[in-house]
Amino acid sequence: MTDTIAADAAVRTLRHHLAGSWVEPSGGQTLEDRDPATGDLLALVPLAGPVEVDRAVRGAREAQLAWREQPPQVRARALFRLRDALDAHRGELARLVTLDMGKTLDDATAEVGRGIESVEAAMAAPHLLKGQTLEGVARGVDVELVRQPVGVVAAITPFNFPAMIPMWFLPFALAAGNAFILKPSERDPLTSERYLELIDAIEEIPRGLVSLVHGAQDAVNAILDHPGIDAISFVGSAATARYVNTRGAERGKRVQALGGAKNSLVVMPDADPRLLAGGVTGSAFGAAGQRCLAGSIAVLVGTPEEQDRSRERIVAAASALRTGAGLDPATDVCPLVSAEARERLVGEIEQAERDGIAVVLDGRGDPGPGGANLGPTILDAIPPEHRVLTEELFGPILALVRAPDLDAAIAVVNGSRYGNASVIFTESGGAARTYRHRVEAGMVGVNVGVAAPVAWFPFSGWKDSIDGDLHANGDDAFAFYTRTKVVTSRWA
Ligand code: NAD
Repeated sequence: MTDTIAADAAVRTLRHHLAGSWVEPSGGQTLEDRDPATGDLLALVPLAGPVEVDRAVRGAREAQLAWREQPPQVRARALFRLRDALDAHRGELARLVTLDMGKTLDDATAEVGRGIESVEAAMAAPHLLKGQTLEGVARGVDVELVRQPVGVVAAITPFNFPAMIPMWFLPFALAAGNAFILKPSERDPLTSERYLELIDAIEEIPRGLVSLVHGAQDAVNAILDHPGIDAISFVGSAATARYVNTRGAERGKRVQALGGAKNSLVVMPDADPRLLAGGVTGSAFGAAGQRCLAGSIAVLVGTPEEQDRSRERIVAAASALRTGAGLDPATDVCPLVSAEARERLVGEIEQAERDGIAVVLDGRGDPGPGGANLGPTILDAIPPEHRVLTEELFGPILALVRAPDLDAAIAVVNGSRYGNASVIFTESGGAARTYRHRVEAGMVGVNVGVAAPVAWFPFSGWKDSIDGDLHANGDDAFAFYTRTKVVTSRWA
């Protein structure tokens, strides 16, 4: 116990980065940031409020006035520097993600790569910010549409992709001529701190243009209420997304709020067994199910015998997965983000059992040194409308549902209030086409378990998976971070 206290005393408190300077928090409340694989305390996270947010906004306003006057190609060149800095630190950033959040090093490396791709997509700004003109709408009259930055934008991000999701927003916002304030998840903010150190070293990005504010609810409320923030990009659970969208919109801000998900994987009887096994298990249990694109329902299609055969294939593949620390190369299923997350999910499984649901594969074995391990868990014989089918559990729990044919399967998928992603496993082009046409989800996979679009396309959730009209990444990002101005001119 004494050792722990001595070790803990050496743990540093993270710093905010406000208006161009690192700022040591002056007392106040902190939260613990722990390594989920070991339970070790990594850092203390200071909780910002209106004072810190106001300082960030003042710095951002000033820096943005000059930044917006920089030619778009000059802003894009600054992103080239950012891209190179991230590329040079890929390995280090991936290890930070694994340490802080738990996912396997392979997964973390892929995440960092995805973040870098967003920077690469934003580098096309001079092309994508081009406007439109229509000559001669009346005698001597021309109309011209130009895109201008919205001003100061803030991003509030979740714990599950601490490296990728800040990069869904930061490079596009800067490329479009805005200043940027990041409020990362209080559960794993180490990568964001490293990002700010790397940005600090890039001469082409002016001081104060990017700020980092640590914190939780109070920091978010301060962002929502600050009149100097023009637009907010949010990613997190559906309830928080709705709250951020409502409160932000009430204060006249532009908001894109990406929320939760409950994604279905439709398994046709003709699915290729290898694509099926790898696709379903990767989707349901990769990152311990803590992905907004994770498949959490498998809809087994066909006769009862065909459904049972698909179930056996999935259970066999899931049983072979190894649960353990993200730094261990043998690990397939990483720890959850915290011991509390495990406790909550074990509670969900216990309740499901009490409700008569069959636990076909039970992951409640060894919780591991950090108390956060939960192995792949598969549930069957689930009553319709049970919460394991309707609620996002955000863990390695796969619910099985049975459907006699594709129509019935599509009805199950489209019954969800969410519409982030959905996947079909089939060897039939006709079934795949019918599915992609009729399914109510914005990201569709065909024999691909995690149908994450590359950054040149928008991250296209539907229904309750997003509040707002414009998505992250792709052309949508430039539309969200700019205002259009239409100029009508007559010259004698
Ligand atoms: P979360 O909603 O708990 O937190 C997200 C952010 O909101 C954090 O920065 C947090 O500090 C803040 N926050 C949390 N509660 C708040 C409150 N009551 N008031 C104000 N701010 C609050 O989400 P999480 O657990 O960090 O992330 C997981 C969730 O994110 C899952 O629901 C997942 O599906 C979703 N997600 C969605 C997408 C997408 O693209 N749709 C992508 C990744 C994650």
